[in-house]
Amino acid sequence: VISRPASPHHKTAHLTASDYQKAAGYLRRGGLVVFPTETVYGLGADAFQADAVDSIFAAKGRPADNPLIVHLPEVSWIERVAASVPAHAELLFRRFSPGPLTLILPRLPELPAAATAGLPTVGVRIPSHPVCRKFLIACGTPVAAPSANRSGRPSPTDAAMARREMDGRVHAILDGGPCEHGLESTVALVEERRIVVLREGAVTREMMQGVLGRIPVLAPNSTAEPELSAASPGTRHAHYKPAARVVLFEAGRLSAALAEGEGSRTGVITLMKRDAAAATGGGRETQVPGGPGSRHLLRSMKSVEDYAHSLYRTFVEFDHAGCDLILAELPPAGGIGAALRDRLRRAAGQE
Ligand code: AMP
Ligand code: MG
Repeated sequence: VISRPASPHHKTAHLTASDYQKAAGYLRRGGLVVFPTETVYGLGADAFQADAVDSIFAAKGRPADNPLIVHLPEVSWIERVAASVPAHAELLFRRFSPGPLTLILPRLPELPAAATAGLPTVGVRIPSHPVCRKFLIACGTPVAAPSANRSGRPSPTDAAMARREMDGRVHAILDGGPCEHGLESTVALVEERRIVVLREGAVTREMMQGVLGRIPVLAPNSTAEPELSAASPGTRHAHYKPAARVVLFEAGRLSAALAEGEGSRTGVITLMKRDAAAATGGGRETQVPGGPGSRHLLRSMKSVEDYAHSLYRTFVEFDHAGCDLILAELPPAGGIGAALRDRLRRAAGQE
């Protein structure tokens, strides 16, 4: 039995992708393992070892009423954690799994209560990240995992960020490189007559609607039903906000935003126009307008996908640089833009 990582001086094994078997060994023995996924890094434990699941909450400082997502290597495993798989869920998983979609299904009673924060439902996801898949297969058990950040901090999108969050608090960190999407998965509640999106992600409402036809796919907060806010405890908890005040601006409104901003050190995020991105070879530039000594740090994102992928890392960089103001361009709402706008609004304290 592995000692619990209650002490912040726990020795963490830093494993490269080829060591996924070793990482799975720690997890099977009741340990905590940080692992890569295509969305963000996860902090995993065997979903059927109640003590191990409890230790996730301790390592993160996570409120006990915030449920975890159960990660599976393939769709055929869903019955190991869910009491039933409604037809809509099957359609959605068939189309979008493996991938960044978490569906909320009725849970099996055998699942430890802590994994679902005592709810009658369980969040299930089948990730596509190749190292994650190998790791999950080697684990041989459903893996309960929230994002691998300490509560209130940004979700890690590469192994270095994960290490800064969790070194000394977990048994192992498995490095799978930078995450493809960089924003947390879409979470959707599956009901008999409708799907309710609880959190926007890379699988958009439009994508799900395309598969489901006449079954409505509702936007987050589109109904004021109290049962729904009870069903999505995660949305009650404050999402990560950088230390700096975040102000959002629409495309083309940067000068107006700069004129209003009064930061002593300002971080600026802009989205390059498609032609500008092509002209610079699509590279991401870091410039300091006004030359050395300027108080502005500029990050130009070459696409909406690049923006999503780099958002949390950029916020952390601005925090480290001592920015007290961040001006961030709102991207168009198509594709992952909807999820990105959601995370930007949360960072700006708008919800
Ligand atoms: P994280 O992986 O850190 O983003 O946290 C998982 C999120 O998934 C939680 O904050 C919830 O919003 C959501 N979630 C997981 N399980 C459930 C569930 N059974 N019901 C509603 N939401 C869930
Ligand atoms: Mg999280």
